Amino acid sequence: MTQKDPQFTEDHGIFRTAFRKYVENELAPHVDSWEKEKIFPREVFTDMGQRGYLGMRYPVELGGSGLDYWFTVVYAEELVRCGCAGVPMALMVQTDMATPVIEDLGTEEQKQEFLMPAITGEKVAALGVSEPNAGSDVAGIQTTARRDGDDYIINGAKTFITNGTRADFVTLLVRTGDQPGYGSISIFLFPTDTKGFSVSKKLEKIGNHSSDTAELVFEDCRVPARYLLGQENMGFYYLMRNFQGERLIGSVSAMAGSKLNMERTLEYCSDRKAFGRPVSKFQTSRHLFAEMATRIEAGQRLAYHAADLYDRKIEAVKEISMAKLYCGETSCWVADRCLQLHGGWGYMDEYQVSRAWRDSRLVTIGGGTSEVMREIISKCMGV
Ligand SMILES: Cc1cc2nc3c(=O)[nH]c(=O)nc-3n(C[C@H](O)[C@H](O)[C@H](O)COP(=O)(O)OP(=O)(O)OC[C@H]3O[C@@H](n4cnc5c(N)ncnc54)[C@H](O)[C@@H]3O)c2cc1C
Repeated sequence: MTQKDPQFTEDHGIFRTAFRKYVENELAPHVDSWEKEKIFPREVFTDMGQRGYLGMRYPVELGGSGLDYWFTVVYAEELVRCGCAGVPMALMVQTDMATPVIEDLGTEEQKQEFLMPAITGEKVAALGVSEPNAGSDVAGIQTTARRDGDDYIINGAKTFITNGTRADFVTLLVRTGDQPGYGSISIFLFPTDTKGFSVSKKLEKIGNHSSDTAELVFEDCRVPARYLLGQENMGFYYLMRNFQGERLIGSVSAMAGSKLNMERTLEYCSDRKAFGRPVSKFQTSRHLFAEMATRIEAGQRLAYHAADLYDRKIEAVKEISMAKLYCGETSCWVADRCLQLHGGWGYMDEYQVSRAWRDSRLVTIGGGTSEVMREIISKCMGV
């Protein structure tokens, strides 16, 4: 426990030390080649699953560790030390984006078939919400699931799906009725070995290269009704609840990554000399570091405040949206300043700052854009 952050106990500290060692020894040395290969080995999921890193928040009876949310915060903060954002993103899709709804709403059978193997790392999970013609406007999705006897037939397409090229199942948002809007949307747990499913494209991206992003196609895919998660036509509301955890952990991760980037930039600028003195000693640089540290601290505090509410199961849509907005924008700003402080070397691949700059650009887009966050905040304010 520290006086500044009393929510972190000695146990959180022990976990932080052990997990940092794991990230630095088992992940970081390979990240350069994973970035080039544009994917990381599937064994990372199984290895992390075996060590209990993929189920910390889930109950012991499901194979998890039953730990409080602050362990998840530590996990996200330490993962960024692997040296890229792609691996953390792919792993957090598994732990914090595609699976929390299964714990919340799944039947025993669904938990055994999908959640438990995701916790052990035997199955890779993806979250399928975005479509070629519907991203921010989730209620505009067009993928359908039509009831046919004891089954549903799914038709449509999803895009930008993280882990999409190798997911064993997709937590899939579909339209189950003809009514436009929120009221006829449902969630299915969709096994990707279903006939009619295909990965139509692996997408090329600006950054987050270690993680795969794919376009998925569903052609007359027949799935049993038992794969419907929760109640039919309630999927939009379930997803909005699920988004809170996704946005919160993304905010925590963004600030941890920004802090690390700033610290490394300070090291670089303390060594690098111009006009006979270290770049860090120019007043403009010192003020920039002060400004970065202040914004990061503010973002982290906002995220911790939201995490505290989330951990205590207090409604925190406004606070989480504020954290996502502020941490996303701050992360882009810090990454850009850090690159500038590296001068020409910032533009080269030799230093991680260029990768951090590319990777950071996603944070104001993925999981809900900054504009969408402003919409939500203003609605919460009654504006
Ligand atoms: C690398 C990557 C990984 C991703 N992983 C996943 C994943 O695993 N699963 C998944 O389902 N999705 C995933 N996404 C998709 C992501 O969540 C969407 O890109 C995001 O929600 C934005 O949707 P869009 O791209 O369709 O943008 P659009 O909705 O087309 O938005 C375009 C622009 O219009 C703005 N805009 C939209 N509505 C409003 C409004 N009401 N007011 C003002 N401005 C508005 C947006 O902010 C944006 O600037 C991923 C995306 C990326 C890039």
